[in-house]
Order: sequence, then structure tokens, then C-alpha cells
Amino acid sequence: MACDTAPTAVESAPAPQVPAAVAELLVTLRGGGHSAYVVGGCLRDVLLGRDPADWDLTTDAPPDRIQSLFPRSLYENRFGTVVVRHARGQYEITAFRRDVEYSDHRHPDSVEFGDSIEEDLARRDFTVNAMAWGGRPAEESLFVDPHGGRADLARRALRAVGDPDRRFGEDALRMVRAVRLAATLGFEIEAETLASIGRNAELARHLSGERIAAELFKLLAAPRPSVGLRLMTQTGLLAVIAPDLARQPRIPQNKVSGEDLWDHTLRTVDAAPNRTLVRLAALLHDIGKPDTLADGHFHGHEIVGAAMAREFLAGLHAPKALQERVAHLVRNHMFSYQPNWSDAAVRRFIRKVGPGSIDDLLALRAADNEGSGLTAEAGLLPELERRIRDELAAHVVLGRQQLAIDGHDLHSELGIPPGRALGRILDELTERVIAEPALNDRAILLELAHAIGDGSTGGEQASGSSGRNIEAS
Ligand code: ATP
Ligand code: MG
Repeated sequence: MACDTAPTAVESAPAPQVPAAVAELLVTLRGGGHSAYVVGGCLRDVLLGRDPADWDLTTDAPPDRIQSLFPRSLYENRFGTVVVRHARGQYEITAFRRDVEYSDHRHPDSVEFGDSIEEDLARRDFTVNAMAWGGRPAEESLFVDPHGGRADLARRALRAVGDPDRRFGEDALRMVRAVRLAATLGFEIEAETLASIGRNAELARHLSGERIAAELFKLLAAPRPSVGLRLMTQTGLLAVIAPDLARQPRIPQNKVSGEDLWDHTLRTVDAAPNRTLVRLAALLHDIGKPDTLADGHFHGHEIVGAAMAREFLAGLHAPKALQERVAHLVRNHMFSYQPNWSDAAVRRFIRKVGPGSIDDLLALRAADNEGSGLTAEAGLLPELERRIRDELAAHVVLGRQQLAIDGHDLHSELGIPPGRALGRILDELTERVIAEPALNDRAILLELAHAIGDGSTGGEQASGSSGRNIEAS
């Protein structure tokens, strides 16, 4: 690998505030006779006064040389990136790369190491992501900014490096990154670049679910994800990435006057707390509405929507547990609390939702309220929340496992053989204890089990009350 040629667009400006660990990495690389730079999104973020998510360095040293300079490093991929572990974290050092052909709209056909920082910057996506700070071995550190990144940073603009049609044609993910960065940074997409996304949106079909998911999840962590989601609608990216959501604009929704279902979804996402699970559930909570619209109602949309949400996330290869948890929130978001709910009804609600999902469901509902032009507290949510907390604090029985007896007791004390009948008795006992916690006592439960087993007491009373008052939909 040749040594870095003199950069063309260098400027001396005050050094960016890089952490001591990063400065040390630069010193080691340059002391080893190499050019080395802090590059990309982390430099953009420090110049904006934001905390970078990760620190990236680039150098003319090839990966094996980087590894020999940093004994505690790992080289695991074919892209020239060495991960260096440092007492204060992990840093990625990537050998300069140059642009090559992309024939599948998603990856370069091969990885080629480059000779200069300019080549490396030219392959990057946006001008604000295509700046470097550092230098050749024995020179002072300088900014390298051949594409006008700092000027675009000052006008808060995202502009493709080079011809946007060509760059989006090479890697369609850059379009998704543009809308994501617009939302996370609060930047505008410059007009030519935006128009090019509109022309090339279809190419997003070639992207893998994993890469879309990574950008979508970052987008959902923006202060107002609606900024990026609206850009997706405007450019046609949404219709490619999430066709079922792209049907929401113009579906009437009787909530905020003059607003449609998509406006409601976006308000709900913005109002949701910044947790991936809840923001995703907010994005998908009404995904079943277009399919269920009949006579001005969306009957059963939460059931249809739960299945659609799961399918959408499966398409993105999201972890199965996340798919299930989001679908569960979508499925249960239509509860309608009434102050006349008995304590037993509150306990059945907790059991149905699951103690681990209660906070997320209430947060989703508060956001849905705000998205409907109501206050977060509508539907007496704070009262329900307080009652749920009280029940949980009392360690009430919510399932078989917490009963004061188990299947072995029923077998040894009453001679009931393991099997479905025994399971039914345990379920029945659980219902009774949820209705009346004081019954959770070994002697009482054995007596009740005996009566249930004899069939002298019908299950009618308890099972008939299960779930009552919980769902309004
Ligand atoms: P974040 O703040 O989320 O980390 P980022 O811009 O730093 O945003 P990374 O995925 O960390 O995103 O990428 C680091 C840098 O690599 C980018 O700033 C950009 O220079 C370059 N880059 C990343 N993805 C692409 C891409 N698809 N095409 C071209 N350059 C890219
Ligand atoms: Mg980054």
C-alpha cells in the first residue's frame, strides 16, 4: 500500500475535541509511520457538539499492520476494519478504501484498499460524513474536507457526495440513511439529493431486511421520528419498505380534525418514549386499520394488526422476541379501563398483558392518546397505573406458579393423577385466587381442589368472570 499523498483540501481549523483514547490511537498509528485520521459520522457529531455513537479512524496501514500496532485488536471482516479494544471502549480502524463497482445496489463487488484519504472520503455517503481530521506521519493535524462538509454542516444540509443518482444506484441504503440522518440530526435533505431519492426509491427493494432494520431503529430513536417518516412517504421509500404503512395516508381518522390515519400514527410515534420496542409498537399499532375499515369502523384492527406487525418485523429479520413483544402490544392496545373495574379485574388485566409488558403497554396507550389529540392521561391511565402498581407491590398471584400448592401436592394429597384434569384444577384454583387472594393458602386450596375434583362445584363462577370488564374494543 502506497503512502498517503498530500491531501488537496486541507484546512487548519481548531482541533475537534476527540477523547484522549482516540488521540492515543492516532499517535500510535502516526508514530508507526502511517497517515491516520478521525473520519465520518463521529467527526460530524463532534463538530455539532453531539456525543458520537462510535469513533472511526482510517489509515493507510493495511489490516495486518494495524493489528501488529495494536496487539489487543480483532480483524474479523473483509472490509479492512480492525477493532481495537482500549481500556475506555472499542474503536474501529479501517484501512483506506476506494470505490469500486456495485452491481446489486447494495454492496461493492469487491473491497479495494485505497492510497489516499481523498479516495476514502469520495466513497462515503454525504458531505457531512465525508470529512477527516488527522494527517500524515510527521505533519500537524488538519481537516480534510474536499466535498464542503463543513459548509453543509453549517447550513444543516445533507448532500450526497458526487452525483446522487449514481451514489444511490450503488447502494440504495444511502437513501434510507438520508431520511434517518435528517431525523436524528434535524437536518434538511438538500433539493437535488431529495429529488434523486424520489427517482430511485424503488431500488430500496434490493436491500436486506437487516440493513433496513438497523436504519429504521436508529430513525425511531430520533427526537421526532416523524421527520424521517414523512420524508419516507414523500419520496416513496415508505411504499417500498413498509407498503402496509404506506396505505395510511388519506385513510380518514376521526381524531384530530383535518388529519388522517398516517398523521395519527406519526403523532403517536413522536409522543412515545424513546425505547425501540415502544416506538416500534407505536409505528405499527394501527397497521391493521386499512384492512379492517368498514362503515367508518376498524373492527378487530388490533388482531389483524398484531399479525401484520409480526410479519413486517419478520421481513426485517428482527429478533423473534422483539417480533412477539411488539405484536403483543399491538394486540392489546385497545383496552378500555373503567373506574368500576374490581381489583380482581385489574389483576386479570395484569395477567393477560403480563407484568413485563404492562409499562410498555401503558406508555403506548399514553402516546396513542396524545396521537389522538387527547392528553396522555385520557382514559384514566394514571389511575389504572396506580392500581396496577399496588397489586404488583402486594405480590398477588397471577399464575399457577405462584399458588401455595402445585401438581405434586394434588397428586400426593388427593391422588389426582398428572394429566389434563389436574391442569384444569390448577387453572381453576388460579382463577379463584386471582378473584380472592386470601384463598392462596395450602389447606384452603386443597379443600377447594377436592371440591372441584368431585365436580360438586362448577367452574362456572370463576371462569365466567375471567376477562370480564377488560376489553372494550
Ligand atoms: P451514527 O451516528 O448512527 O453512527 P454514522 O453516519 O456514523 O451515523 P455509521 O454507520 O457509523 O453511521 O457509518 C460511519 C461512516 O461510514 C458514515 O459517517 C459514512 O462516512 C460511512 N458510511 C456508512 N454507511 C455508508 C454507506 N452505505 N455508503 C457510504 N458511506 C457510508
Ligand atoms: Mg457512526
